[in-house]
Amino acid sequence: MIIVLLGPPGAGKGTQAKEIQARYGVAHVSTGDLFRAALKEDSDLGRTVKGYLESGGLVPDDVTCAMVAQRIGRSDCAKGFMLDGFPRTVGQAQALDVLLGSRGLRLDAVAYFDVTEATAVERLGGRLTCRCGAGYHAKYMPPKEAGKCDRCGAALTQRTDDLPETIRKRLRVYEEQTAALIEEYGRRGLLRRVDANAAPEAVTAAVFAALDSL
Ligand code: AMP
Repeated sequence: MIIVLLGPPGAGKGTQAKEIQARYGVAHVSTGDLFRAALKEDSDLGRTVKGYLESGGLVPDDVTCAMVAQRIGRSDCAKGFMLDGFPRTVGQAQALDVLLGSRGLRLDAVAYFDVTEATAVERLGGRLTCRCGAGYHAKYMPPKEAGKCDRCGAALTQRTDDLPETIRKRLRVYEEQTAALIEEYGRRGLLRRVDANAAPEAVTAAVFAALDSL
């Protein structure tokens, strides 16, 4: 199974990716996570993308597509994968078609997480993360002890791009550069729309209903 998770920042793609991975056994390829890991390692890639991530702008297509090409060549993707946060531009979507075609693969579906801007802003503003990978929300999924991870006890942090001004910029970038893909994938009959305003469990059920038939 090869799928794309499409939707604005704050739609809950990362949260649902964990559920999808557990149910279908596909690898989770998140371009945002890959860029953040590169930043942490202070690698060449990390230094290249730092400014884009901090400002909420998009990393150039050539850099992003090269990273995705390399990532999906890894063995854990052999049984299928889901792309979370990629493609984000028409150019990336075209590059993905070429990339898959060259390997004799094709996209099975695009799960579109449809969410209102108000919900997205509220989710992003309260999002807390731990270096161990656990995620929380100050209002909807608070840790047992404020500011501390339930799983490993480390201090929780807010992503630097989850600050109000950067959130607004990321949503604007989504509207300008990514939203066009909804129509494009709809035209190709690949789009599975999910109401992502609902509670996480309800969204998971809707996602499974959309993907079980693939
Ligand atoms: P995310 O975790 O998906 O919200 O991504 C965080 C940041 O990483 C974005 O605001 C962009 O700066 C960068 N990024 C992630 N995925 C892409 C992509 N497909 N194309 C360009 N930039 C990306």
